[in-house]
Amino acid sequence: MSNENKSIHEFDFNLICDYFSSLNRQVILSKEVTLKALSFIDNLSEKSVIADIGCGTGGQTLVLAQHTQAKISAIDLFPTFIDKLNQSTVALNLQNRVRGIVGSMDQLQFADNELDLLWSEGAIYNIGFERGINEWRKFIKTGGYLAVSEASWFTETRPTEIEAFWNTAYPEIDTIANKVLQMQKAGYVPVATFILPEYCWIDNFYLPQIATQEAFLKKYAGNKNVEDFIANERNEMQLYYKHKAHYGYVFYIGKKL
Ligand code: SAH
Repeated sequence: MSNENKSIHEFDFNLICDYFSSLNRQVILSKEVTLKALSFIDNLSEKSVIADIGCGTGGQTLVLAQHTQAKISAIDLFPTFIDKLNQSTVALNLQNRVRGIVGSMDQLQFADNELDLLWSEGAIYNIGFERGINEWRKFIKTGGYLAVSEASWFTETRPTEIEAFWNTAYPEIDTIANKVLQMQKAGYVPVATFILPEYCWIDNFYLPQIATQEAFLKKYAGNKNVEDFIANERNEMQLYYKHKAHYGYVFYIGKKL
């Protein structure tokens, strides 16, 4: 077992996909959080168009669909996730309003000013927060909204151990104040920010992984790559328990000027 911090990107793509598609959510989020963020968005109707970028298997997409009348395009790079989402929309009879599409967040196919709301939970880090909020802005109507969640520092100074972890995992992690400033500079009115509760990480993200980890170690017994991957995930969880006063996920809601 290796104890050094590795970025998740160093592991096999299929392995990561298999591991996370077995969970309901691919990040630390929850229905309550999605609804809280949605409560800051005005003026959605059956004519509205929402994009959910990096939707994963669509946990939040379905919540958005069930709490608005809007048309929703949900986009993710991984076909396995999109298949799962499209099966869920059929099961819930939402297929006329919700479409899962395989695509990349750096090549979105929307028209300029098409969207009333651009949503992205726990996914913008794939192209980076600052790049994402700037590049995606043109797709949003004037007066429309951006709602994204992003790993952020809560404190001005942090223990070296956790700084080192995040510098490898996602060097663009920054304080809430700095992220809000980036939004303002990109041309959004910062409508709201809120910190996701700890239970999102612990109950909704890390604890469900424990059973998956054990199943994976059995399924791939003796596979060093899998053992390293699981050790890495476990290390990340331990670091969270130890340093959670210093960082977490934050929702940022902005209105396009
Ligand atoms: N929003 C979901 C999933 C977040 S995990 C949730 O809250 O549960 C991050 C997601 O981003 C993964 O599903 C991953 O497949 C997707 N992703 C990674 N790179 C991407 C890209 N370039 N374009 C679109 N989606 C991407």
